[in-house]
Parts: sequence; C-alpha cells; structure tokens
Amino acid sequence: MISAQNITKTYDQRVLDNVSMAIPAGQTVSLIGPSGCGKSTLLRIIMGLIPADSGTVEIAGEKMHSDNMLKLRRKMGYVIQTGGLFPHLTARENLTLVTNFLKLDPDAVEQRIEKLTSLTNIDPALLERKPEKLSGGQAQRVSLMRALMLDPPILLMDEPLGSIDPLVRHELQNDLRSIFRELKKTVLIVTHDLGEAAFLGDSISLMQSGRIVQEGTIREIIDNPASEFVEQFVNAQRSPLEDL
Ligand code: ADP
Ligand code: MG
Repeated sequence: MISAQNITKTYDQRVLDNVSMAIPAGQTVSLIGPSGCGKSTLLRIIMGLIPADSGTVEIAGEKMHSDNMLKLRRKMGYVIQTGGLFPHLTARENLTLVTNFLKLDPDAVEQRIEKLTSLTNIDPALLERKPEKLSGGQAQRVSLMRALMLDPPILLMDEPLGSIDPLVRHELQNDLRSIFRELKKTVLIVTHDLGEAAFLGDSISLMQSGRIVQEGTIREIIDNPASEFVEQFVNAQRSPLEDL
C-alpha cells in the first residue's frame, strides 16, 4: 500500500540516505529513532508535501508524480504532533473544511462526523469549540477525525501523542490501536517511545542519521540488535521501573 524506494534528501546535510520501506495493506509500522534522524522528512515525502532528491514513492500501486500528487494525497490522512488544527475554526469547521471544498453531500458528511465521534471517543459537544478550548488529548482526537474524514486507506502520523500527558496518552494508545485494527488502515506512525512503537506497530523500523538500520518486531530488535547503536537505543529506553 505504501512503498518508498531509495529515497534521498539533502538540505545542508544529507537527511535521508537511500531509504526504502514498504508497508503492506492493513499493517502498522512504527518509525522510531533519535531526534533529527529524518523521520518527519520521510513522512512528508511520502505525503507528497516535499519532493525527494531521488527515489520513488508508490501509493496503492501508483507511482507519485506532480500530476497525481493531489489525488494520491487524498488516500492519506496525516496527523502531526501539534494537531495542526486551524485555530480560528471550530473543531467541526476543521472537519468540514475539506468536505466543503469537495462539495460532498452535507447529510453524508454529518453521518461521517457522527461515526467518527463515536470511533474516536469524543463528546460531540466539544466539536463546537475552537482548538484553544480543547485539551491536548481532545485536540488530537479531533485531528484524527479530520484525517479520517475522507476514509483514506492510509494514515501517516507524526508523533501524534508526543505532547500528551502520560495518563491520557495511555488511553489514546489503546484507542488508536483498536481504531487501526477496526478500520484495517495501513499506518505509518512516528514515535520516540519504543514501548509505544511496540504496542502500536506490527513491526518497527528504527532509523539512525537518515538510514533505516533495523526493521522487525520488538522481540527481534531486542534479541538481535543489528548494531551497537540499536542496542544502546533499546537500553536507553528501558523503563526506570525495571531498575527498582
Ligand atoms: P526527525 O523528525 O527525525 O526529528 P526531521 O526529519 O525533522 O527529523 O529532520 C531531519 C534533519 O533535517 C534535521 O537535522 C533537520 O534539522 C533537517 N531539516 C529538516 N527540515 C529542514 C529544512 N526545511 N531545511 C533544512 N534542514 C531541515
Ligand atoms: Mg520529527
């Protein structure tokens, strides 16, 4: 469903160095790695928001180029850490921005909103609020609803729970996992938390300085770290509770 092949991107320095990844339909891959290793850049390239210097992206078997970029982008819901909701619009207006633009049937849109409200566990009354009057967790539920409005087969999520406090985060992790499974979406989710990566992902791709250094299940990564870096990364994420 998602294929990125030999992606290279250079700004001042090389940010992505010949990165390839493929995600079959219905699978969730967690992308993890130190800050600055190129995770967000890779997601933006897959989303078609920035161009790669070289390499190809294929979405649902179709190679992305400038002519079909908008069409392919509609197959992907995108959620970023800070939600990315427009602050001057209510949550509901944020949800209907695209559907209005596409002139979708208002009754169908209303039904979609009702369905997503229950799916994402959000109180419908909150949809009349502007983002500043929502908690971080509520805003992320609205961002997820917005990403799902057009029922895209793919979700790209860039540290969606990164700024959420631990209790709410735990709740959202559970909800996200059941949503991914229930909707059978193909998901690429960036996180900096290995536990979260393991909980949400069918497999984990670990990046270091613009390269994917290991792909596999959490078990494979812990049991057979591909390099000293992987071993250090795993050890650095060991829960402080394990030391008690
Ligand atoms: P991550 O999401 O893994 O933290 P990013 O993909 O955001 O990393 O960034 C990777 C590297 O590319 C960083 O060193 C960052 O400073 C650099 N970078 C990202 N976007 C730009 C840009 N528009 N211009 C210049 N450098 C950038
Ligand atoms: Mg990032």
